[in-house]
Amino acid sequence: MTPSTAPTRRFVLLDRDGTLNVERDYLSDPAQLELIAGVGPALKRLRALGFGLVVLTNQSGVARGYFDLDTVARVHERLVAMLGAEGVALDGLYFCPHGPGDGCACRKPRPGMVERAAADLGFDPRQSFMIGDSPVDIALGRAVGAIPLLVRTGWGRRTESEGTCDPAAILDDLPAAVDWIERSVGTGIAQTGEPA
Ligand SMILES: [Mg+2]
Ligand SMILES: [Zn+2]
Repeated sequence: MTPSTAPTRRFVLLDRDGTLNVERDYLSDPAQLELIAGVGPALKRLRALGFGLVVLTNQSGVARGYFDLDTVARVHERLVAMLGAEGVALDGLYFCPHGPGDGCACRKPRPGMVERAAADLGFDPRQSFMIGDSPVDIALGRAVGAIPLLVRTGWGRRTESEGTCDPAAILDDLPAAVDWIERSVGTGIAQTGEPA
């Protein structure tokens, strides 16, 4: 084994609410899960391109007492089943249950979930893409050296109009972001998160 010279499988890091599924503002019931149009086939396309897939989601509704850890588990069980029905398997799904004032290491934009996923799955965050609808997703992508892509679904249009973050590109939705990734790996641009 020579892990230092083995080619690193590239990963796409995905926000959950407003990126994969319709934003429900503290989604607290598996029945509220609705995949955004085209998400299944888009993730399948990333798989076909060889990317690993990891979901990273802030779920401060736990810390706020809106729902419990068992609810998060049931929501994720249904999400995995819905994606599975579309022929998509995730490599990992990580969530932060803490609140903004808890000072944890995992709440986005802090890098804890990415570091944990990278250690568990053996990938280089600097060779990754991060897709999300909120400023924290873009800030996290930048913080770990990934290429951050903002989608206009969920809170994305608001995020875009606020102009407070620095995505590498802004796309209408996840399928459009996957088109962008496919073009960028095909043409050799955007091979790392370094500014062009
Ligand atoms: Mg989101
Ligand atoms: Zn946390």
